[in-house]
Amino acid sequence: MTDIETLRTWIRECPKGGMVFFGGAGVSTESGIPDFRSTGGLYSQTYAYPPETMVSRSFFEAHPSEFFDFYFDRMIALDAKPNRAHRKLAELEAAGVCSAVVTQNIDGLHQMAGSKSVFELHGSVHRNFCMKCGRAFDVHQMIELHERADDGVPRCSCGATVKPDVVLYEEPLDDHVVEGAIRAIANARLLVVAGTSLVVYPAAGLLQYFQGDRLAIVNLSPTSADKHADLCIAAKVGEVFDF
Ligand code: ZN
Repeated sequence: MTDIETLRTWIRECPKGGMVFFGGAGVSTESGIPDFRSTGGLYSQTYAYPPETMVSRSFFEAHPSEFFDFYFDRMIALDAKPNRAHRKLAELEAAGVCSAVVTQNIDGLHQMAGSKSVFELHGSVHRNFCMKCGRAFDVHQMIELHERADDGVPRCSCGATVKPDVVLYEEPLDDHVVEGAIRAIANARLLVVAGTSLVVYPAAGLLQYFQGDRLAIVNLSPTSADKHADLCIAAKVGEVFDF
């Protein structure tokens, strides 16, 4: 049996609600969403700052115009559709197998595929709030406001900036989301970690709460948790979940 077949067997054998999926950027690459951290040279040609700098809180405050140019250009992909991994995970939730998806992605594709129990560690581009009055805006309204503004900064009718509910570098994660993710991972029997090299905080730390029987890692390159895993698969996430 290949490693991919072994993992599929584990998923089929998993007790009800026993599976939790922890995913990173590699889950969405098949949907055409590039990992903004790993595209290298492209950015140095287009932008004066490295991407990690541009998606930091201090940069957002000091250079809102440049922040939103980068944000709408590189971090929003409205035409992206869920891929076979997103669809399979939604199916596994509906079948009572997968109790939660914990994701580092901000694209909302798990919900678009039908998953309900999703912990978005880094927030979502689909939620946006005025920094003064708290009014909510969806991503389409944000694009309109961005295009309407001379400086590209989306502003509420009250005049304040509308900020995406996305966790920037230097910002803390949402406590409720982290607590929910920890609870899910702590109760999992089978944990599948996929499409993440586990270098971005707090991914690696969350895995320490896992007390289940089977830890599987699906990633094209080695990860820091490989030594703890029961199964390591170097393959595309979509390929593994195409069953
Ligand atoms: Zn407002």
